[in-house]
Amino acid sequence: MCVTNNHRVFLSIGSNLGARRGNLKQALTLLQGTKLVVKRSSSLYETEPVGMRDQREFMNLVCEFACRLEPEQLLECCQRVESQMGRRRTHRNGPRIIDIDIVFFGRKVIELDHLKVPHPRRLDRRFVLLPLTEIAPGFVDPVTGKKVSQMLEQCQDLSWVRRIEED
Ligand code: AMP
Repeated sequence: MCVTNNHRVFLSIGSNLGARRGNLKQALTLLQGTKLVVKRSSSLYETEPVGMRDQREFMNLVCEFACRLEPEQLLECCQRVESQMGRRRTHRNGPRIIDIDIVFFGRKVIELDHLKVPHPRRLDRRFVLLPLTEIAPGFVDPVTGKKVSQMLEQCQDLSWVRRIEED
C-alpha cells in the first residue's frame, strides 16, 4: 500500500511565445499524473515582462496540486514538461514558451544548489503573488511566516498584472 503523504504544492506557470493560453493548458495536462493532481487553478493573468522588457507580455497562472513526488522528482517533472514543450534555455528572463517554477512545496524549506523552495523570487513577483492570493490567501509562507495575502500587500513590484476575464 502506498503511504506517501500528499504534499500541498503550488506551481507558477507562464508563457510568452506562441499560443500562450494553449501552452499553459498543455503544461497542466502534461504535468498531471497519478502522483500530481490539480486541486485548484487561478484565473489566467496577463503580466508585464520582468527583467527584459522588450518582449511580449506573459500569460501566467498559479496552480495548487496534491503531490506524491519528492521535491527533486517534482523539479525533474517540471523540467521534463518544459523540454517536451520545446523550451530552449536562452537568456534568463528572456522569451519562453513555458516556464514552470515551484513556489511552495508544503511547508518544506529546501536550499540545494539546483532547487530552492520556497522560490527565492516569490516576494518580488506580483505575477506570482496575485494569482496565489486568489486561490490560497491564507497559506503561510514557511520562511517569512506571513500569509500570502500579506505578502501581496507588502510586495514592492510595480509591474502590471491583469486578470483575464474568461468568456
Ligand atoms: P528558470 O530560468 O526560471 O526556469 O530557472 C530554472 C533553474 O532554476 C533551474 O536550473 C532549476 O534547477 C533552478 N531552480 C531553483 N529553484 C527552483 C524552483 N523552486 N523552481 C524551479 N526551478 C528552480
